[in-house]
Amino acid sequence: MISRADEISSNLDSVRSRIVHAAEGAWRDPAEITLIAVTKTYPASDAQILQKLGMTDFAENRDREGAEKSAIVPGRWHFQGQIQSNKISSIAHWADVVHSLDDPRHLRLLAAAVPEGKRLSVFIQVCLDPQPGRGGILPENLSPLAELALGQSSLRLEGLMAVAPLGEIPESAYSRLARIHIDFRQQFPSAAGLSAGMSGDFETAIEHGATHLRVGSSILGSRSDLR
Ligand SMILES: *Cc1c(COP(=O)(O)O)cnc(C)c1O
Repeated sequence: MISRADEISSNLDSVRSRIVHAAEGAWRDPAEITLIAVTKTYPASDAQILQKLGMTDFAENRDREGAEKSAIVPGRWHFQGQIQSNKISSIAHWADVVHSLDDPRHLRLLAAAVPEGKRLSVFIQVCLDPQPGRGGILPENLSPLAELALGQSSLRLEGLMAVAPLGEIPESAYSRLARIHIDFRQQFPSAAGLSAGMSGDFETAIEHGATHLRVGSSILGSRSDLR
C-alpha cells in the first residue's frame, strides 16, 4: 500500500511538471507562477506533508479551518472563500493573503482589523459570470475598489482573482479575464498579479496570464464533501 505522503508527493510532482510545461508553451517563466495548495476539507496532516515537500502556500475557504491549520503548519496562508463580516477580524489575524475581496465595506473592515505591524496582501475578485452569484464585482466597478485598497496602509493590493463560471469553457472565460487584467495592470501597475486556475483548468489560466494558481483536488485527491 502506498502511503499518503507518497501519494501526495507523486500528485504534486505531476502538477508541478504540468505547470512548467504550460508555462513554457506560453513563453512564460515558470518561476513567476505561484502554486497554492487548496487544503480545504483535508486534514492539517496533509498540509504538513506538503510543507515538508517544499510547499509554502496554502489556501482555505473557511475561517475556522484556516485558523486551525495555519496555527499548526508554517507557511503563507490564503483565504479564498466568501467573506462574512463577523469573520473578518479572525481572517485578518491568521491569513497572509485574501483573494476574495469584492465589497468596499468588507475592504474597510479588513483594513482596520489587520494587526499592528502586519501588511495583508489582497486580490480583488472579479466576476466573469453574466449572472453574478458566485462572488466578485463586475469589471466596470473594479477601479474604485482598487483605489480604495491602495489607500489602506495595512493592505497591499496584489491584483485580480477570478473563478471560471460553471457552464462556460475555461478558454473563453480566461481570455475575457486576460483582457480585463491587461486594462487593470495599465491602470494599477503595482498590482500585476492574477489569481486564476484550479485543478480542472490551470493550464488554460497559465496561457492567459495567471500568476497564482489555486489547486486542490489534483494534489490532494477528490473531496468527499464538495464546497
Ligand atoms: C475549491 C477551490 C479551489 C480549488 O479547486 P480544485 O478543483 O480542488 O483544484 C480553487 N479556488 C476556489 C475559489 C475554490 O473554492
